[in-house]
Amino acid sequence: MATATSIDPMSSTKTSLWQQTYLRQAGVFFAVIGAVAIALSLWSTWIAVVHTANARVVDSTAASNVAITAIFANHAWEGIDPLLPKGTVDEAGAKANPNLPAIDAIVRRFVDNTDIVKVKIFNLEGRTIYSSYAKQLGEDKASTSGFRGASAGRPTTEMSFRESFIGFDGEIRKGHIVSSYLPVLRSGQIVAIAEIYTDRTYEVDASNRQLDELLRELIAIFLGLFVVLLVFFRQVDKLRQRHTESLITVAEESRLARESAEQANSTKSQFLATMSHEIRTPMNGVIGMANLLLDTELNNEQRGFAQNIAVSGESLLAIINDILDLSKIEAGRMEFEAHAFSVHALGDAVASMLSVRVRQKRIDFRVDYGPETDGFFLGDGLRIRQILLNLAGNAVKFTEEGEVRVQVERQPDGLRFAVQDTGIGISAGGCERLFASFSQVDASTTRRFGGTGLGLAISKKLAEGMGGRIGVDSELGKGSCFWFELPLVPTAHPADASPAAATVNVKEPTGAGQLLLVEDNVINQKLALTLISRLGHSADLAENGVAAVKAASEKHYDLILMDMQMPEMDGLEATRAIRAGDGPNKATWIIALTANAMQSDQDACQAAGMNDFLSKPFNREGLAAALNRGLSASTS
Ligand code: ADP
Repeated sequence: MATATSIDPMSSTKTSLWQQTYLRQAGVFFAVIGAVAIALSLWSTWIAVVHTANARVVDSTAASNVAITAIFANHAWEGIDPLLPKGTVDEAGAKANPNLPAIDAIVRRFVDNTDIVKVKIFNLEGRTIYSSYAKQLGEDKASTSGFRGASAGRPTTEMSFRESFIGFDGEIRKGHIVSSYLPVLRSGQIVAIAEIYTDRTYEVDASNRQLDELLRELIAIFLGLFVVLLVFFRQVDKLRQRHTESLITVAEESRLARESAEQANSTKSQFLATMSHEIRTPMNGVIGMANLLLDTELNNEQRGFAQNIAVSGESLLAIINDILDLSKIEAGRMEFEAHAFSVHALGDAVASMLSVRVRQKRIDFRVDYGPETDGFFLGDGLRIRQILLNLAGNAVKFTEEGEVRVQVERQPDGLRFAVQDTGIGISAGGCERLFASFSQVDASTTRRFGGTGLGLAISKKLAEGMGGRIGVDSELGKGSCFWFELPLVPTAHPADASPAAATVNVKEPTGAGQLLLVEDNVINQKLALTLISRLGHSADLAENGVAAVKAASEKHYDLILMDMQMPEMDGLEATRAIRAGDGPNKATWIIALTANAMQSDQDACQAAGMNDFLSKPFNREGLAAALNRGLSASTS
């Protein structure tokens, strides 16, 4: 019985391969993203650092330019001021100033030994009235932000890179030039605006060299970090890969283990089924022969012996039937049929089956039917009777005095059966184990009362197989109440219940029939032949399917009894051959004899062309009824 969900190993391997590829790609993706992120942060850090370094050069230059302008205003302005044109002046006027060489001389003296490379002076209207670079004389700078800032008392400074720049000492190539617009203050009054240019190429280059070094170090650090990150990811990937591999191995191992357990379980069930079947066939002989013996003239002692053989055979058969049932259930081959059955008839039958034992034990036994339990219900009456007989049989077995009471009650969604006894009871721990196969409360119970521990396990599986449930309430020493509930619906009449219930119109037999018995087991041959002759019929014997087909082709029979399992050719094949040919028994009534009483076997018999079904071991009454049905149908 395989309840575990099966996992397709191929699909799980596929999934893990897919996962691996996916994860590996994710790893590569992550590494690339990491590298890009590191490069970006490096770049932005670098920009910020360069910006800060340059700002520092600009700031320090601006501060020194402000100081220089103050000195310029105090020391040089006095000499320069009278040489400058006054009031509004145009470009030409500015250029035409004859004092320009004299101003130039003063400015040059002033900037000597400083790092100032160019000076301009603007009047308050923004006209360039002096420039150390003569070409720019007369330019109007009124609208520039530097001039406007300085006019408002805010010195402004900026640094720019110039491919070519004309200073006092000629051309400067590729220089970092800082220019400051500064107000020239005399007695707190802005008298002019000066623009001072300072060459900061050396400082900037020196700081750039330091920054380059810093950059190299930063790159080294970031690369180192990246390598560490890569190694880390690689390790994680390896670990994960190992983990996945071990998961796959574990999954594979557990699949193999499960398969071998399922295989072992099904082999066990198959073995039990085969063994039970093999044991039932000779048991059929033992019980049948004992019954035949009981029909002969015997003295009392001999009768006692024969009765013991029959009773022991019956109880052995009961055990074998239990094992067969359980193995069928475990192999998932138990089938349930729905027919209309009477609950009252079912309860009464159980009571009558137990009546002998009840009388022997001198206990009370009664069945109480609740309201609305009469009439018919749709369900597998035989299986329900099996459960009830099991529970009631146990109750009688484990009760020495008092009573056993069976109660049947209607419930909203079905029926509840309860078997209450005043017997030995069961401890709470025992109750939990009871419904497992081969489980008994304790070994001493087995010695005292006998039993295999299969009844409750079978009952549970049957009840659950029919969609119901089963349970027990018990107290040690006081008694037990075993119950089961089934979802059963009432049905109007047996005929409505199942088309399979349609029966052949049975007529009285027309006398002795000529039969063909097909059976390979010698004892069963003897048993069947004796019963047949005692029922007033005669029979030919065929000991396998091949012989049966041959016999059937030579002579007409009123009825054929066909065993199912035989060497050389089985009953199904023989029946098909008889039905297919043009022989005298093409339409003869054929009854299947088999120890396998399952619906699927019955269906197979019907499909092969058989008319009826007699399950082994059969007794005189069963055989008589089957022959009666067959012979009267044949003559109708
Ligand atoms: P078996 O009766 O063949 O041993 P069952 O499966 O029917 O197997 O029962 C299992 C065990 O449950 C019994 O051996 C017994 O210990 C306990 N048991 C069942 N019914 C009763 C009961 N009515 N009272 C006390 N014990 C019970």
